[in-house]
Amino acid sequence: MTGSSARPDGRLNVRARRPAKLVVAFGLLAALSAALWVAPPAGAQEGVGHAEAVGDGPPGVVHLTFDDGPDQLFTPVLLDVLDRHGVRATFFPLGRNLERRWGSDEIQDLLNRGHALGNHSIHHRQLTKEHPWRVAADLDEASALLASLSGFRPGCYRAPYGDRNATVDEVAGSLGLVHVAWTADPQEWRNPWVPVVVDYLVGERHDGSVVLLHDRKWLSLHIVEEVVPRFLADGWRFDVVPDCRPPGEREARMATRTPGDVPVGRIEAIVEVSDELSRGVAVVGWAYDADRPDGGLVVRAALDGDRVVDVATTGPDHGFAVTIEGAVTLPLCLWAVNAGTVRHDSSLGCHRPGPVPDWQPPAG
Ligand SMILES: [Zn+2]
Repeated sequence: MTGSSARPDGRLNVRARRPAKLVVAFGLLAALSAALWVAPPAGAQEGVGHAEAVGDGPPGVVHLTFDDGPDQLFTPVLLDVLDRHGVRATFFPLGRNLERRWGSDEIQDLLNRGHALGNHSIHHRQLTKEHPWRVAADLDEASALLASLSGFRPGCYRAPYGDRNATVDEVAGSLGLVHVAWTADPQEWRNPWVPVVVDYLVGERHDGSVVLLHDRKWLSLHIVEEVVPRFLADGWRFDVVPDCRPPGEREARMATRTPGDVPVGRIEAIVEVSDELSRGVAVVGWAYDADRPDGGLVVRAALDGDRVVDVATTGPDHGFAVTIEGAVTLPLCLWAVNAGTVRHDSSLGCHRPGPVPDWQPPAG
C-alpha cells in the first residue's frame, strides 16, 4: 500500500561498509538550500512537448507521464516501482477515477515522493468536439478536485487523446493550464511486445522527451521495469515536467494538514559530494507535520541497505539540509517521521543524486 512505513527492500550487501556519518555542512548546502527555498520559477526549463530532435543523442532528461489513473492496484505498485529505481514522473489522473478512488492522503503520498500532477479532465471527452463552456467546466472541475486533494490547482493539463485546438488552449490558458503533449507513445493498450517497446523508446529519446503511458495498464509496469534501468545505465535521467510544478505548492500542501495527519514534504535536491576527505550525498528538502508547527520534525533515511537512521530535523521554516557522509545505498530512501498521533510515517521517496541545480545568489 502507498505511504506505508515499511522500508523498501534494501539491497543486501555482504561487504562491510564504512558507517555513514552525518554532518551538517555549509557552503554547497547553504547555497543549495538558499536557491531552492527561493523557489525557482516553474517552467524554467524548455523543451517539453517540442520534438525537433528525434533520435538517440547524448543523454538528457526524459519525462515519464501516466494518464487515466488512479488505479486501485496498479498505481500504488507503480509508485513503489518508481521509488525502487529512484525516478520521478508526472501523473495525469482522470477526475472521475480520482473521485471514486483516492483521497488527500494518497495524493499527498504521490507528491511526497516527488512526483507531479496535472489535469486530465473529469470525463475524458474529446475537447475539440465540445462547446467551449463545457470544456471550461470540465477542466475547471478537474482542477478544483485536484486542489481539494492536493491543496493547489495544477499548472498543466493534458487533453484527453491529446486532442486540442486554439479554442481548447485558450480556455485551458484562462484556467492557468499549460498543455503537456508527448513525444513518444508506445500504445501499450495494443499489448505490444515489451522488447519492441524498449527499442522504440530508445530510438525516440532525446533531451526533454515525454513518454505517454497509463497507470491503469499492467503492461506499463512491465515497460517501466525494462526501460528505466536501461535508460539509467545509458546515463539518462528522469524528472517531472517542469510546467506541472506550480509555485506555492509547498505552502498550499502544508495548509491541507491538521493535527493528527501524516506529514507532507518533498526532497528538493540530492547531490553527490566528493572530495579528497569525504564522499556522500547532500540532501535538501522540507517536511511538515501539523503536530509540529514550529519544526523539529525528524527525517529518517535507509542507509547501507537495511539500516535506518535519523538524519535530519526540520527547522522553524520546515526545511532541512544535511550531508550524509560515507557509503550511501542508492537510490536513497527517506521518510518524515509521523509526529502525529496516528498512522504511518510519510515516505519522501527514493532518490538518485542529480546535477547541482542552477541557482542565483540572492541580490544584495
Ligand atoms: Zn487519457
